Amino acid sequence: MKEKQARGTLRAAGRLSPVEPKVQKTDEEWRRELTPEQYRVLRQKGTERPFTGELNNAKAPGVYRCAGCGAELFQSDTKFDSGSGWPSFYDAASADAIVEETDRSWLMKRTEIKCAECEGHLGHVFEDGPRPTGLRYCVNSAALKLDPKP
Ligand code: FE
Repeated sequence: MKEKQARGTLRAAGRLSPVEPKVQKTDEEWRRELTPEQYRVLRQKGTERPFTGELNNAKAPGVYRCAGCGAELFQSDTKFDSGSGWPSFYDAASADAIVEETDRSWLMKRTEIKCAECEGHLGHVFEDGPRPTGLRYCVNSAALKLDPKP
């Protein structure tokens, strides 16, 4: 069971209970528009195998957008090498770009992160990140698209 996360444990980085996602599509539409891997991650809360995603080692400057809807999620200057095997960021691109939800699957209590615009599953946020936020947004490569700075 999912429950909305109570404010307080993590910095209020995201809207906790979006009123309505702006981008709403049917399951069939998502299936048609996304690659099988993007669909599995974004719409079925899948997790790619670590060190396999194409953006894990990406260093180019730019904006990381949602692979589902194109919303701006992270800036390249907050990306850091966490050693986890997944693209990792210490901050979101803006305060309302990402929503958080408590995830109790797999006998763990984690904080799931989702795109605020389309509610696509991105990954999880942990409190063992670097300064200045102390947060580690651990994101599936398949959920992201790097929009390089020209
Ligand atoms: Fe999105």
